[in-house]
Amino acid sequence: MRILIYGGSFNPPHAGHIRSAQVAAAALRPDKTVLIPAALPPHKHLAAGTPAPEHRLAMTALAAAEIPNCEASDMELRRSGPSYTSDTARQLRQEYPGAELIFLMGTDMLLTIESWHEPEVIMELASLAIFAREDGREAEIAAQAAHLRETYGARVYVLGGEPVTVSSTQVRGLLPQRQGRAYLTDGVYAYIIRHRLYGAKPELCWLREKGYAYLKPKRVPHVQGTEEMAVRLAELWGADRDDAAEAAILHDCTKRLDRDEQLRLCEKYGIMTDEWELQNEKLLHAKTGAALAADVFGVPPHIESAIRWHTTGRPGMTLLEQVVFLADAVELNRKHYPALEAIREAAFQDLDAAMELYLRSSLYYVAQGGEAVHPSTAATQRYFLKRLEEKGRAPVEWEPEKI
Ligand code: ATP
Repeated sequence: MRILIYGGSFNPPHAGHIRSAQVAAAALRPDKTVLIPAALPPHKHLAAGTPAPEHRLAMTALAAAEIPNCEASDMELRRSGPSYTSDTARQLRQEYPGAELIFLMGTDMLLTIESWHEPEVIMELASLAIFAREDGREAEIAAQAAHLRETYGARVYVLGGEPVTVSSTQVRGLLPQRQGRAYLTDGVYAYIIRHRLYGAKPELCWLREKGYAYLKPKRVPHVQGTEEMAVRLAELWGADRDDAAEAAILHDCTKRLDRDEQLRLCEKYGIMTDEWELQNEKLLHAKTGAALAADVFGVPPHIESAIRWHTTGRPGMTLLEQVVFLADAVELNRKHYPALEAIREAAFQDLDAAMELYLRSSLYYVAQGGEAVHPSTAATQRYFLKRLEEKGRAPVEWEPEKI
């Protein structure tokens, strides 16, 4: 029996790890491959902001799915103290007596192995397999392999293959800039975004692909229009354009659900419903959408609240909340409704006045239709009217059209 063992911080596991394990598995044909995230790597510090061990284990398990006969093991995470490879080798030797154990490692680890704890134990109990992290290190690797064979009687396999020049440090640096997905599997990336590990923010093209899957196809143009308008308004009024895009992409993510499904989500997420929402379930999608966006896509509270308040608004709305609310109301794919053009024009002149006009006109038309108005809509209209008065700005003059 032959077991390939790959230890590391896996913080997060990236394409370099996966490629090297795939190449090693194809060349050495192990019966199984085990990825072992270290609790406390003895030869490097875990970076500040490193996620909890459970997260590294979960990401490693997701990465393992890309490698044949591969699993993630928590054996080092369960052990206290520094995660010495020699202890892991002893433990595995007991578990698998008679098996050939092979530790897979990159160039950096091969070159420093003699400074590890009990290197002679590691090389006695296990073979080594080396996959270069970058081109041009062949001579160095060959010399070190020869040295280890001679000095420790080590069994060293030097693997060929195109390296993937990337490190976890590099990926951690890219994730907050909405980059780095190219170095991760989709499963690992979705996990990182869901939990917003490493301060990650989603790449917007990825978020669109995943977010649109929650929509009825006919709603996609509206969501696209809302995103475009949200970005324009954000740029004009000084909100973060990418936060606005995130909120817009996800703002209707539960809109397709019927009343029962909405209520099930309310139960799942502990959402309280009021009598107006129970009468008119269309109002619920803002609350359930915000909760789902936070749960599945890890949106931070300021984006969650922009989704949460995009239907009724609320007194004291933030700039981002207003931008998303109005983008939804006046995006260019919107079917005509009374006051649309006036509200759209106002959105580019005075954001508060556009909010006030939208709310005033919808209060008027909802009342005309004999429907109950959510009290938050009326309270929000009064709030914006007062705000305009305080700032000495006039509300938009508007005569209701006959409908
Ligand atoms: P960090 O940037 O946080 O130091 P890292 O990218 O070096 O992390 P680790 O999880 O610490 O990744 O490395 C685990 C093992 O994977 C080591 O043996 C390392 O040499 C190897 N490895 C890491 N990146 C690559 C790569 N791009 N190609 C081949 N092997 C790699």
